[in-house]
Amino acid sequence: MLNLSDIFAAQKIIKGQADQTPLVPSPFLSDKFGTDIWLKLENMQPVGAFKLRGAINAVMNLPEGIQGVTCCSTGNHGRGVAYAARLRGLRAVICMSELVPKAKVEGIQQVGGEVWVKGRSQDDAMAESQRLCQDEGLVEISPFDDPNVIAGQGTIGLEILAARPDIETLLVPLSGGGLAAGIAVAAKAIKPNIKLVGISMDRGAAMAESIKAGKPMDVVEVPSLADSLGGGIGMANKYSFPICRDLLDEVLLVSEEEIYRAMQCLYYEDRIVAEGACVVGIAAMLAGKFVPKGSVATVITGRNLDMEMFTQIISGHDVQLGDYRIQGEPYVRP
Ligand SMILES: *Cc1c(COP(=O)(O)O)cnc(C)c1O
Repeated sequence: MLNLSDIFAAQKIIKGQADQTPLVPSPFLSDKFGTDIWLKLENMQPVGAFKLRGAINAVMNLPEGIQGVTCCSTGNHGRGVAYAARLRGLRAVICMSELVPKAKVEGIQQVGGEVWVKGRSQDDAMAESQRLCQDEGLVEISPFDDPNVIAGQGTIGLEILAARPDIETLLVPLSGGGLAAGIAVAAKAIKPNIKLVGISMDRGAAMAESIKAGKPMDVVEVPSLADSLGGGIGMANKYSFPICRDLLDEVLLVSEEEIYRAMQCLYYEDRIVAEGACVVGIAAMLAGKFVPKGSVATVITGRNLDMEMFTQIISGHDVQLGDYRIQGEPYVRP
């Protein structure tokens, strides 16, 4: 299927376009857990998220003569695809659902993408994207179920282990599984005994449900602080599901309250502004759901959050997510 050489090939293609991001220690978390905890800062990528890696690798691998590209996206993939399309002078149409925050829509427009908002769910957006392929001759780039996208995300695994070969566990935010699958293929090939843990929010975690059921499952989508982790994995999933099923050692779920506190912690202790989706690994450690042994790295996947909501969180205010209310509290060092 996909192997280490595909990921090295992707690394050559994205070189100079997507950045090689820093892997920094978290002094607070390392001290608290008595072992080295590393943060891979993908929030520092040009479009503010790791999605750029997979998008560039996918767009650069397309044949000559196409009309343009399209995708459906919770935001960061759309932004990455729009950015990558512009590098090749191609049109990019990004389809998204109404649940996506405004900041992400603007982010796509800033890099020259057209945004079409369609329907209440990621699946509605997916249907629109497929229509554009048929009617307007665009080529769809899946946010996660595409070997080139997975290989692009996998370059994160190469960089982490090149910088710190001693790392024993990788905590990876998990949604459609392109990130986890790519990192897993790279990391397990280089270091077979490395432990890979995928982490999602506990409401609407499609990949976690699917792995448990042994086949792709539909879940009800609800608003979450980890909005980048929302959406299904596609009932016809071909690549990211089997790779995650076979290579992830464990999948953990964290609550909205745990994500809230982890966002506060990353901000106050490490001074990092990051999306809810990025802190699920930290949330799992702080909640005692994952007990770090040996060197651990987690991927801080992106920074494209709604600043109004972020301000509420770091000020300790309540946050309303659809019908669900998170009880706020000022930051207390855990
Ligand atoms: C897309 C995304 C994820 C999850 O990646 P998948 O490949 O869908 O599992 C995590 N964090 C951020 C910020 C993202 O944009």
